[in-house]
Amino acid sequence: MIPPGETIGILGGGQLGRMIAMAAAQLGYRCHVYAPEADSIAAEVSAAFTCARWDDAEAMAAFAADCAVITYEFENVPVGPLTTLGEAALLPNPRALEIAQDRLSEKRFVSDLGGTPAPFAPVDSPADLAGAVAAIGVPGILKTRRDGYDGKGQWRIMAAADAEGLDLPAKPLIYEGLVRFFAEFSVILCRGADGDIRYFDSPHNVHEGGILSTSTLPAPGAVLEQVPAARGLAAKVAEALGYVGVLTLEFFATESGPVFNEMAPRVHNSGHWTIEGAITSQFENHVRAICALPLGGTGLAAKAVEMRNLIGDEAHDWPAILADPANHLHLYGKAAARPGRKMGHVTRLTFG
Ligand code: AMP
Repeated sequence: MIPPGETIGILGGGQLGRMIAMAAAQLGYRCHVYAPEADSIAAEVSAAFTCARWDDAEAMAAFAADCAVITYEFENVPVGPLTTLGEAALLPNPRALEIAQDRLSEKRFVSDLGGTPAPFAPVDSPADLAGAVAAIGVPGILKTRRDGYDGKGQWRIMAAADAEGLDLPAKPLIYEGLVRFFAEFSVILCRGADGDIRYFDSPHNVHEGGILSTSTLPAPGAVLEQVPAARGLAAKVAEALGYVGVLTLEFFATESGPVFNEMAPRVHNSGHWTIEGAITSQFENHVRAICALPLGGTGLAAKAVEMRNLIGDEAHDWPAILADPANHLHLYGKAAARPGRKMGHVTRLTFG
């Protein structure tokens, strides 16, 4: 057990790290953020900050020496430099990072555990694309295997001709069949150091332009029917990885059951509602898990909960949002509001 007062290291400096650090502070821990960008909104609420490149072995070793345990808020941390962490435990373990960083390996991993992803084919070079489109069919989505998030690095292919003449990056890609879903939802679980698994209620997630827009609870009945099977798969993933911390799997709810979309080995945007809407937030339970403390309850704290992301200019509406006393406003303190940039979120609880 890592007692309060010790230091938790966080790799990555964005809003997820900021909210982990705020939950850690509540439990009496101090946080040390490691990120390559100087303007870290996680560092602003933490005790210490190392601003260095991921491959700066000296900086990484000094950071590790200050930390009792290290976690990450960003799954594209290169795994190679993490071997210099020495004795400090990295939780969740880097195997989860390695798998989740690559859309092809996560789909294969989940298929091997009995899950159903969208039909997929690797596209290692532009010459493979026509064959992949012929094998999987149209419509489909071509995605970069690595570094894609919030719908970035994706091309929709509605007809075979769309695959011709695309200006593709020189990176490994994956082509997926377009899934006909009636809703999207996520399973957010926390696995403790003793193997205890707690599930948060599964939110109904609505994306716009590839970016999460809202997460609503309780999810509609037709989604809730698919949650047990999805949880079963998520538990298998967590067990297979010896996972400790919060793990998120995103699913499409389809007429033939849950189809796996992707996994995130970390706290997740579709779990932000848990700060006010669950007995214990995903951030606090993540801290409890990596510090080997008992996990807190994950039940809903209200009859209904809605979380809405504030993207780009939407955060400018903060006075109007605060004018409604039922709203909980979270602003991440980012300097510039760019289109598509997550600037904050607002959570609304209903008790009646
Ligand atoms: P991703 O970055 O893979 O999570 O994709 C972002 C969003 O794009 C998803 O949440 C879906 O709304 C949509 N999407 C991605 N892949 C597919 C697919 N194979 N079929 C249908 N919709 C998809």
